[in-house]
Amino acid sequence: MQTLTPRHFALIITLLLVSQAEAQKPDSVIRAIFSEALNDTTAYHHLRYITKNTKGRIPGSKEALLAVEYTRQALTDAGADTVWLQEVTVPHWERGEEKAAIISETFGRRELTIAALGLSAGTSTEGLTAGVVEVHSFDELARLGKETIEGKIVFFNRPVDKTVINTFAGYGGAVNQRTQGPSEASRYGAAAVIVRSVTHALNDFPHAGVTRYAEDVKPIPAAVVSTIDAGILSEALKADPGLTIQLLLTCRNFPDTVSYNVIGEISGSEKPGEFITVGGHLDAWDNSEGAHDDAGGCVQSIEVIRLFSKLGIRPRRSVRAVMFMNEEMTGTGGRAYAAHAMERGEVHYAAIESDRGVMAPRGFAFDASGERLLKLQSLAEWFEPYNIRDFDQGGGGSDIAPLKQLGALQIGYIPDIQRYFWYHHSANDTFEQVNIRELQGGSASMASLIYLLDIYGY
Ligand SMILES: [Zn+2]
Repeated sequence: MQTLTPRHFALIITLLLVSQAEAQKPDSVIRAIFSEALNDTTAYHHLRYITKNTKGRIPGSKEALLAVEYTRQALTDAGADTVWLQEVTVPHWERGEEKAAIISETFGRRELTIAALGLSAGTSTEGLTAGVVEVHSFDELARLGKETIEGKIVFFNRPVDKTVINTFAGYGGAVNQRTQGPSEASRYGAAAVIVRSVTHALNDFPHAGVTRYAEDVKPIPAAVVSTIDAGILSEALKADPGLTIQLLLTCRNFPDTVSYNVIGEISGSEKPGEFITVGGHLDAWDNSEGAHDDAGGCVQSIEVIRLFSKLGIRPRRSVRAVMFMNEEMTGTGGRAYAAHAMERGEVHYAAIESDRGVMAPRGFAFDASGERLLKLQSLAEWFEPYNIRDFDQGGGGSDIAPLKQLGALQIGYIPDIQRYFWYHHSANDTFEQVNIRELQGGSASMASLIYLLDIYGY
């Protein structure tokens, strides 16, 4: 029998080192991340809990605090080294009762499916009744002027342009009617506003959302109407321009209150003071389970922590999962997170936001250009086996946007977005509309991108 010489030992050590390096090649790590995510149901269970047990979690609600507590525990269970809550000042608005009906001498009475806009003023407890003026743009509103608008309900009825393939761009072309419409109509003395739901869907769900009153206008009551009822109202106005609408909104604004961002961190092995953030927003509209918008993005972010922890991937930089509070109303969660980071002198290398729904993963949008964008796009090769190919220029998201002033590379997670606005801000955005495989493909994509960014440092 041959004895082992020092040369043999050297050979064995070399072989061991080679196989260890082999095991650490990005493609094998990414394969392990996808396999673990696609085989595991933790994120899906979290999604079910948040959607079913904390429904109604608008900022400032007790349901939002339930979601805060739940995700704090989930981040601990996921294996984060540190988990904490960060105080955020949030609005406190309550929806109350909401009713609207067409009253016409020609047609009689017909109820409309409506929802008060977030932060809207209410009507008196008796409600109001007024004639209706349909408009499609702020220019048209200005042309009609005070003499036509004063005392009337302005009905903004410009639909989303469905020919635009990027559904977010289509949405962006119509959403100012909701965000600024009430404020603009108030300038001409309108009594109230009804806005066509900003959605690609033709259905009977009102799609909620926030409105913002300019400081120099009187806040007037404002609601969205379902797209089906917007069509009915428009037709009714053609047949009977003298019809009126009876509107009752008992929503109310209360003084601001306190809520929290929820943060879980894995500390970096080499640069613990340098951060990569991944997040979604925990608040959602109170008429919705908020599954795609954005409990899905939150559970994907928690899952990133679980994947790193479970697979023993120790990043060089610290990785943080953040459940931002109050994206939907006034965005104070994202601003509070960046303000704290600045105060502590933290270095923020990159931030990824998942707030475009949790359908099948497609890729990422990078707020970068030139050489840097090309380098980031070269990372797409690692995602080829998973059919994830869209590595384009684009924005990150509103919660991470304030981190840009700290130099953080802004990255948006991009799933298939064609169906997103069917669900967005409505009672239709339920747990059942989320596919576990698509959800987890997204978690794996984000964990993989963070792993690669941490290695390459582009
Ligand atoms: Zn959202």
